[in-house]
Amino acid sequence: MAVRKVTRSAKLFERAQKVMPGGVSSPVRAFKAVGGEPRFMKSGKGAYIKDEDGRTYLDYVMSWGPLIHGHAPKGLLAALGRAAKHGTSFGAPTRLEIELAEAVRELVPSMELVRFTSSGTEAAMSVLRVARAATGRDAVIKFAGCYHGHADGFLVDAGSGAATLGVPTSPGVPKAAAALTLTARYNDLASVESVAELAKDGVAAVLVEPIAGNMGLVPPEPGFLEGLRALCDRSGALLVFDEVISGFRASRGGAQHLLGVRPDLTCLGKIIGGGLPVGAYGGREDLMRRVAPDGPVYQAGTLSGNPLAMTAGLWALSQLSDKLYAKLERLGGLLAEGLSDAAHRAGTDVSINRVGSLLTVFFLDRPVMNYDDAKASDTAAYGRFFQAMLAEGIYLPPSQFEAWFLSGAHATRDVDDTIRAARKAFEAAAT
Ligand code: PLP
Repeated sequence: MAVRKVTRSAKLFERAQKVMPGGVSSPVRAFKAVGGEPRFMKSGKGAYIKDEDGRTYLDYVMSWGPLIHGHAPKGLLAALGRAAKHGTSFGAPTRLEIELAEAVRELVPSMELVRFTSSGTEAAMSVLRVARAATGRDAVIKFAGCYHGHADGFLVDAGSGAATLGVPTSPGVPKAAAALTLTARYNDLASVESVAELAKDGVAAVLVEPIAGNMGLVPPEPGFLEGLRALCDRSGALLVFDEVISGFRASRGGAQHLLGVRPDLTCLGKIIGGGLPVGAYGGREDLMRRVAPDGPVYQAGTLSGNPLAMTAGLWALSQLSDKLYAKLERLGGLLAEGLSDAAHRAGTDVSINRVGSLLTVFFLDRPVMNYDDAKASDTAAYGRFFQAMLAEGIYLPPSQFEAWFLSGAHATRDVDDTIRAARKAFEAAAT
């Protein structure tokens, strides 16, 4: 009888669970949604990562988005090495923050003033504080299936109804905090209108991922974001784009540039930190001047504007080019087409959403336009597909409800390998 070798990853997972909840620092990493043991990663280079057992994988997670230039690019390592020699943190202003804020404003002109944080969660919590202070209103509208980090007011779902009052989705979120978050249906302007009516004292902000990436990838339908802009203009609510994923990825100027809708406020994260922990928020100057110390809206951070993180962000933004986006578009197109063809050959129904270098394969026979659609996907089939791809050395997001990320380090031959592996994996998913 064959004896299954206990891997180093398995041993590490056992050890990790003794000292950390679920053995991880962020839940999705534990593979609960797809089964099996998580792979403990040791190194990454370009589009590839290597685990503690020495197995190599083609990576489509790319740290969930920041690594648009691939793992450990030489230029970034050199810049970080130089910066670290000058010190790793000062808790005082540095030139690097100005340079990064200027670079952000040049690429995303609606961000007239920028404040750096250490994560996307902080950026999203803080931007809402500004919106509430500026409007004098408490209620905010978000969309079912959109994720804005784990602050209390964001852990709210609509259930399956089109538009309901906020109910907490995690124990520990006070009902009072959740009640201020009204949830509408993505790509459904009528649902936004009807939840807005529930806010007796008006809505402070409509917070949206302009290209949704956290229910799997769901692009906005034509007219959806324009409709939100018009609704905000009519009601005095502020339009806030959470571009933590789409920022610098959908285009150099993010989704707002690609889709031509200007928000009042924007949150950024991921790429702006080049793989180090950073977030940022910003927007109209009259709103952002309310932030301390210019104004009374308090928000701060010991490591905010950290020199190593600023250096990584500056390097990442300096490498964005038309050539890069053309390559990402070409590879994304090839990948989506190849996956669709592979699924068809295997007789598996899939619905593939893609915008540039972001895509999701839903195991469903109809288009996915909102969270209700996404939840109808066959997640067990995704789990089998995931495991079959992993066995072929392709590392996909360990959940149906996440986007795949391509990077400039991926090559045509990587996409070809992925499609070849997918032919087998779709058959495995069907059984
Ligand atoms: N907003 C969006 C759209 C995100 O995708 C995420 C994280 O994935 C966040 C906010 C939270 O960012 P962070 O994980 O850096 O706190």
